[in-house]
Amino acid sequence: MTRDEIRQLAAFQADETKGACALSFYFQPDPPQDRSHRREAIVAKDMVKQALKSAAAQNKNGSLHADLDRVLDLATNLRGGARGRAVFACSAQNFWKEYELPSHLVATSIYLQPRFQLKPLAALLGAQPALCVAMVDRQRARFFDLRLDDLRERGAIVHMLSRSASSYGYNGYEGGHAERRVAEEALQHFKAVSERLRTDFEKGIWERLIVGCQDANWSEFESNLHPYVKQRLIGRFSADVASVSNEEIRDRAAAVLNRWITERASTKASEAVDLAKANGRGVTGLRRVLQALEAGEVQSIFLGENYSARAVECPHCGHLNAHLVPTCVACGHATRELTDVCDAIIPIAIRRDIELFYLKDHEGLDRAGNIAALLRFRSDQTTGQIAAAS
Ligand SMILES: [Zn+2]
Repeated sequence: MTRDEIRQLAAFQADETKGACALSFYFQPDPPQDRSHRREAIVAKDMVKQALKSAAAQNKNGSLHADLDRVLDLATNLRGGARGRAVFACSAQNFWKEYELPSHLVATSIYLQPRFQLKPLAALLGAQPALCVAMVDRQRARFFDLRLDDLRERGAIVHMLSRSASSYGYNGYEGGHAERRVAEEALQHFKAVSERLRTDFEKGIWERLIVGCQDANWSEFESNLHPYVKQRLIGRFSADVASVSNEEIRDRAAAVLNRWITERASTKASEAVDLAKANGRGVTGLRRVLQALEAGEVQSIFLGENYSARAVECPHCGHLNAHLVPTCVACGHATRELTDVCDAIIPIAIRRDIELFYLKDHEGLDRAGNIAALLRFRSDQTTGQIAAAS
């Protein structure tokens, strides 16, 4: 799933005047060891049947019924496995998209709303860097790209070492000489790997780096990394390059990445809260965040994991208001109530490339009302010249 595809979903709006409805269906497969039970597939089927019933009860447009039937078909044939599924449908507007997703991102759920439900995709936004995983030992290096949970090998370097002294039965001076030669070869190999990482980074092939190697090799390899490659390193895990499986590489790297994203989100959220207190490039609370969003000031949004709030939206001009006013303060049209303002915020964030972070148990954010934003600039504080430039 590409960023453009997510953007296309974020831009979609069902034409409610014609009774159209945007259906979002997420399916989380059972863990592989439970495959025989097909529990999640049954849950998914029940959920779709339930939605069919309530759609019939509300006498909604027949096109929704057709979408639900098709999703039910799909749910009936779902198998367990490593990957989740997402379907976005609105046959009234000829829209049907199916995607595979990392299973940890999604919980089995179905939504019938004017817009697609994109919260589960929020994790795919800016927080996910183009990641290189380098698996390195003294004679081999394998380079992988990790995008979401898709691991692809991009290349490898192999410098087979001379046979070590002990395998010749050398000892004393001869043995020491052979060991030094092997150590020198390993050093040249590390330098070549480091150089390859540097040139790939300069070509824009990756933005962040994770290294997998044996503990014994790490300090020597690290000391040969180019300084600005090192700056891009987000973590390391211990692995034997000769025997590690691709699945293990993917899972270990994903764990390192998730830890890094969580830490980064937490640091940035604290920064937003602190800057808000200092009247700087941060705001907290729904009202201020919505204002900043409309002023185009927002760089990153931070939400408590279960944040939800009511608000009104103007169907005519798109103005969002934290106060539940019946008419739009910007254009005077009748507003529509949103049970969760996030349903409007998330698509805006996606369309404008605003980073979106969900945080668990963040004290500062919690005290700030569970919603905050980091700003690119503050229009009330910038000069006319800077405002015009941005
Ligand atoms: Zn309006």
